[in-house]
Amino acid sequence: MGKKFLAIILLTLTLTTTSSYANNICNNYHIVVNKDNRLSADYVPDNLVMPNVEFYSPGDHEKNYMEETAARALEQMFEGAKQDGITLVAVSGYRSYNRQEVLYGNALSQHGDHQMCVAHAGASEHQTGLVMDVVGTSGHLLTQSFGGTPEGIWVAENCHKYGFIVRYLEGKEHITGVIYEPWHLRYVGEELATYCYTNHLVMEELVYCCDEEKNNGIRGMEEELNMNIRDIINILQFNVVEQVNNGTLFNVFKL
Ligand SMILES: [Zn+2]
Repeated sequence: MGKKFLAIILLTLTLTTTSSYANNICNNYHIVVNKDNRLSADYVPDNLVMPNVEFYSPGDHEKNYMEETAARALEQMFEGAKQDGITLVAVSGYRSYNRQEVLYGNALSQHGDHQMCVAHAGASEHQTGLVMDVVGTSGHLLTQSFGGTPEGIWVAENCHKYGFIVRYLEGKEHITGVIYEPWHLRYVGEELATYCYTNHLVMEELVYCCDEEKNNGIRGMEEELNMNIRDIINILQFNVVEQVNNGTLFNVFKL
């Protein structure tokens, strides 16, 4: 724990004295949530709204809500798609901790402990309200074949313009711990989304890819603390999640 604390202090110093790859990069929309960085059971975004888009299951369902900024961006993306002759349908957005528990329990009983489709409760970034699972109108419902449909191709090539990323990329399963999900779109803001799209990155890779100086700083710490780089990154990301759980702004770390 002493080492972890030291790592956080050191990286805080490193980051506050170096510039990130772009201005204003750190904000609440950059949070990394995964099995190593879980949200608390009581974390609920305080500005959930229902985007004005076409839904697979219309009505006042929890899954039809999103964080407000992400919701507005989703509306623009659906509109942009329409102008290109593509119709998108929203399937599943915000997911409470309780609902994650139910879904995980179902997946466990159906597929066993090693399935990579459904996250542990608290480990689904759907809980942030920054995610929407989308499909097209051609009948491909949340399957990997969606990636090959006109809608899936449009989303992969254009969603960054609206601040979204395809969060679980093909070929990055060993990094994300999640199967390829061409339908799962995560809002991170236009700048970071474009950065991820251009460099073909998933969020787990960002900490040490964005900034050469920071990269060197982390590598220095790796030697000094005799910890591997993955552990250091996990500590930093955990700290970000902690701050969200505490309800404080997390603008210390520049992902
Ligand atoms: Zn999803």
